[in-house]
Amino acid sequence: YKAKSTKSGHHVYRSDDDSHGDLRLRTLQELRSAIGDDELELHYQPKVDLATGNVQGVEALVRWNHPTRGLLLPEHFLDLVEEAGLMPGLTRIVLNKALDQAVLWRAQGEQLTVAVNLSASSLVDRDLPDRVGAMIASRGLPASVLTLEVTEEFLLNDRERARDILTRLRALGVRIAVDDFGTGYSSLAYLRDLPIDELKLDQSFVFPMIDDERAATLVSSAIALAHSLGLQMVAEGVENSVAYNELVRFGCDSAQGYLVSRPVSAGELDVWLADRKVTAIVRGAS
Ligand code: C2E
Ligand code: MG
Ligand code: MG
Ligand code: MG
Repeated sequence: YKAKSTKSGHHVYRSDDDSHGDLRLRTLQELRSAIGDDELELHYQPKVDLATGNVQGVEALVRWNHPTRGLLLPEHFLDLVEEAGLMPGLTRIVLNKALDQAVLWRAQGEQLTVAVNLSASSLVDRDLPDRVGAMIASRGLPASVLTLEVTEEFLLNDRERARDILTRLRALGVRIAVDDFGTGYSSLAYLRDLPIDELKLDQSFVFPMIDDERAATLVSSAIALAHSLGLQMVAEGVENSVAYNELVRFGCDSAQGYLVSRPVSAGELDVWLADRKVTAIVRGAS
């Protein structure tokens, strides 16, 4: 069989591997048990308010803690999850873990919101809004604790279905974000008539803005477009302070990226949040 090597030398399945290979089959069997055996875990990446520097919330990003291959990133297993029809199970696990964590944060006095990614295939799941509502209510959480991130593909595959699902989710009080905004080769018409709260400008627009004036103009225009439609704009992939400061100047609402923090475990996030408070106190005192 063909297998790709990651930087760490681990062989992992990719969708462009020989689809009849042993590795694919083995990975598939392992995935089925992983979804039962609690090998999936969430890392959390903070999102900060660019006007105040405050942490607004976090995005939950799934990892597969494989017993022999180590911690695998989504790019190494999500395609297979999708092909194997295991995405509804993964989504349920991620939602439960993210909402459990939100309960823990509240108990610690952190009012963090949490964002969960929905794949385009979730569109077929008509019961999703009811299930999400029950998951939130059973934990005594306000629905505003949850943001669901969908792609343009989700929005456009079946526009009426998307409208129905998003309208019901939003009626609960869940926020809806369009992830990877600008990469979907789509018309912008959906912005006019689909129920959306937030756009997440894809990192491929943010990376070049620091040394390309046209790229920066595109970013500032996208921010203006979002605001003129009453939508919040989040910039993804903010890796350096030049980009961060430009986004502040453009009036972008929030930012996520390695400059602020990489996605980290819940334990590491606690430490990061505590460090940030100390830094704020020291800054305030000086
Ligand atoms: P996404 O939702 O657009 O998440 C952002 C990705 O960019 C994350 O990769 C994150 O680690 C990475 N990133 C964040 N800041 C920076 C930065 O400053 N520079 C660079 N170069 N990268 C940055 P990750 O965690 O590997 O996730 C990749 C994709 O996998 C996600 O893209 C999302 O589409 C998907 N995904 C992750 N978790 C889930 C999940 O629970 N369910 C579903 N359906 N998809 C998920
Ligand atoms: Mg996302
Ligand atoms: Mg994204
Ligand atoms: Mg992405």
